Amino acid sequence: MSELSQDKKRSMVAPPKLLFESGSAGRSAVDWPAEGGKVEDSIPAHLLRQDGISDFPELGELEVLRHFTGLSQRNFSIESQFYPLGSCTMKYNPKINEAVARFPGFAQLHPMAAPEYLQGALALLFELEQMLAEISGMEHVSLQPSAGAQGELTGLMLIRAYLAERGDPRKNIIVPDTAHGTNPASSTLCGYDVIQISSNDKGVIDAAAVEKVMDADVAAIMITNPNTLGLFETNIEAIAQVVHAKGGMVYLDGANLNALMGIAKPGHMGVDVLHMNLHKTFSTPHGGGGPGAGPVGVKAQLRDYLPVPRIVKSGENFVLDENCPKSVGRVRSFLGNFGVLLRAYTYILSLGGDGLENASRMALLNANYIRTKLEKSYQLAYNQPCMHECILTDRIQHKNGVSTLDIAKRLLDYGYHPPTIYFPLVVSGALMIEPTETETPETLDGFCDAMLAIAQEAKDDPELVKSAPHSTPVSRLDEARAARKPVLRWEASPAKAGSDD
Ligand SMILES: *Cc1c(COP(=O)(O)O)cnc(C)c1O
Repeated sequence: MSELSQDKKRSMVAPPKLLFESGSAGRSAVDWPAEGGKVEDSIPAHLLRQDGISDFPELGELEVLRHFTGLSQRNFSIESQFYPLGSCTMKYNPKINEAVARFPGFAQLHPMAAPEYLQGALALLFELEQMLAEISGMEHVSLQPSAGAQGELTGLMLIRAYLAERGDPRKNIIVPDTAHGTNPASSTLCGYDVIQISSNDKGVIDAAAVEKVMDADVAAIMITNPNTLGLFETNIEAIAQVVHAKGGMVYLDGANLNALMGIAKPGHMGVDVLHMNLHKTFSTPHGGGGPGAGPVGVKAQLRDYLPVPRIVKSGENFVLDENCPKSVGRVRSFLGNFGVLLRAYTYILSLGGDGLENASRMALLNANYIRTKLEKSYQLAYNQPCMHECILTDRIQHKNGVSTLDIAKRLLDYGYHPPTIYFPLVVSGALMIEPTETETPETLDGFCDAMLAIAQEAKDDPELVKSAPHSTPVSRLDEARAARKPVLRWEASPAKAGSDD
């Protein structure tokens, strides 16, 4: 507990001043050309703003630098703190990926260069396609899609093109209730209606539930494995049989591949098409929503529909083949998100097959370590071993009026980024924890100690938890109001800014 208090003190630094509250008249980071140095003297009067921002802050270069450096140090980042977000595999991106991405031969490639000048890059992309096919058990891969969600859309477009050519266009996609929101969204965007099915009391899909809704109007099922509850879909082969028997296809959302590398291949589970999130499993950075890459892998029957251009080996050379009449066309400019693909290639090569398998096994071990340390203090959503992420609930704490949101906010006081909360939607008060393989036992212990301390506080002093966070620059936000009435513009008079109730 004393160590934790130390941590809390460390984070209790004064909130930074706004730029508008700093500086002093006449300070500047640049010399204005006019004698006397007044901005107004060097800009023609008709170009000067007339909207009354007269008290624009005036600061020197070092003041500005310190201001923004200070703000950057308030960011949460994997380089500074543990980041246990579930379902998104926010794992550490080894620095060798960055070093290789900066090799001038890669960094200075021009995207419009002709293929004869891109042979090294094309060889790398060709090999990456093969590596991803090997890891996932699929036969062909396209690297074009720029995110998991775009991979989903691309995969569904392949299914639609394939079925349409057989004169059997279908209308519906089956999606489990545990699915990531992008699954129904991609289905809708691709022109399908969504049939939602429920998982059973063990958190997985029964083949019988699929059989009930599977008919000649269903184009495909989209299934995530391991699913977003962190559980392996044990019936996946039987489900695939049911779907295939009625002429449908199996789409696998491969966002959770971090649990399976070197252990099992989706291609062996009856899957026809999948996407992989390189920015999750293959360690390319994806803070702040991007960049990413979501390659799709397919079995032979979908190959002709893959996006163009295809990278083809012709003798000793690589060429870009645009002549694929059945292709769904391009889904991305140039050759995909090359910088991201290059980092994933580096990651795979630097770990090797054994290293990737070890990464997955460590990810499973770490999640189960956290699960067993916390299961007495937080009720588990499903009382069984998990894959790469575990789900706790607030059922015990709720008796004292403490909710998942309160627990998440209190974690900030202990210096931890909260896990994913209230997802998946089928678990009431979910706290979804994915430690990933890169964390040490000491880090996991520190996080568990904080979680256990909060469970104790929820019993002894619920108000303390319910009013958290106490040590952050901004305390508990009214999230609804912050979203509906964001204050995006600084106003000279605080009364004005606050009057908009
Ligand atoms: C992250 C995720 C997606 C979406 O992938 P993006 O790369 O964020 O578009 C889809 N499904 C699952 C299960 C995910 O975790």
